[in-house]
Amino acid sequence: MNFLLTPDRDPMGNAILDYYKKGKAGKLRVLSSMFDEDEIPVATLFRTKEEMSPLERTALDHCRGRILDVGAGSGCHSRELKAQNQDVTAIDISSLSVQVMQEQGLSATQTNLFDPEFKERFDTILLLMNGSGIIGKVERMDAFFQRMNELLLPGGQILMDSSDLRYLYEDEDGSFVIDLNSDYYGEVDYKMVYKRIHGETFDWLYVDFETLRYYANKNGYHAEKLAEGEHYDYLACLRKL
Ligand code: SAH
Repeated sequence: MNFLLTPDRDPMGNAILDYYKKGKAGKLRVLSSMFDEDEIPVATLFRTKEEMSPLERTALDHCRGRILDVGAGSGCHSRELKAQNQDVTAIDISSLSVQVMQEQGLSATQTNLFDPEFKERFDTILLLMNGSGIIGKVERMDAFFQRMNELLLPGGQILMDSSDLRYLYEDEDGSFVIDLNSDYYGEVDYKMVYKRIHGETFDWLYVDFETLRYYANKNGYHAEKLAEGEHYDYLACLRKL
């Protein structure tokens, strides 16, 4: 899997480039077959450490050694880590986002996390802003951990945030109405639109901590919840046993 995004198919990258060049951007629309239309305020993709959630700040505080910022976007986390003199490399499938990161002096390359040609190794692999999304579907969880085996240095760690979407299926009395015969409830499809640029539909995985722990253990990893957010979100640290 070494899919990359070209500018004509990259709504978020165009929004990031506009914001970087002009200090403002249009509406970055998020469509899904499962939710009402939403919007990502483009400024939030450029958030500073002060503007980050406590969960994200905890993630930054746990970064050490050679760090890989996966799906780095505008590079907000890489920027903070570099300011702290950390050794951080960013990857993203978006050529425009990578351009914006490089123009800020960050070490960034247009690389897909799952591209086997990318062979470097890291002490910390950081996936933030529902970082589990990149895994796409639960059935790809094993492939994700196998890829992590290739990218992690001995003793290395993965720092990843996600949300448990169970609140979408909770009845008023607190009981769940999850159809166990259908797909895992955290599997979502998204499509982004910015100005006239329409992206392709992509899979995005929200995973509850117990499911993540199950697959982590199955693949020889220890899963620890480092922090909980305000709305069913959490930060996990995954280490090879
Ligand atoms: N981490 C950033 C951006 C999150 S948006 C932040 O917190 O602000 C998710 C980013 O992941 C997008 O920039 C998208 O282009 C990138 N991405 C999606 N799939 C990827 C993959 N397989 N490999 C690398 N980057 C990916």
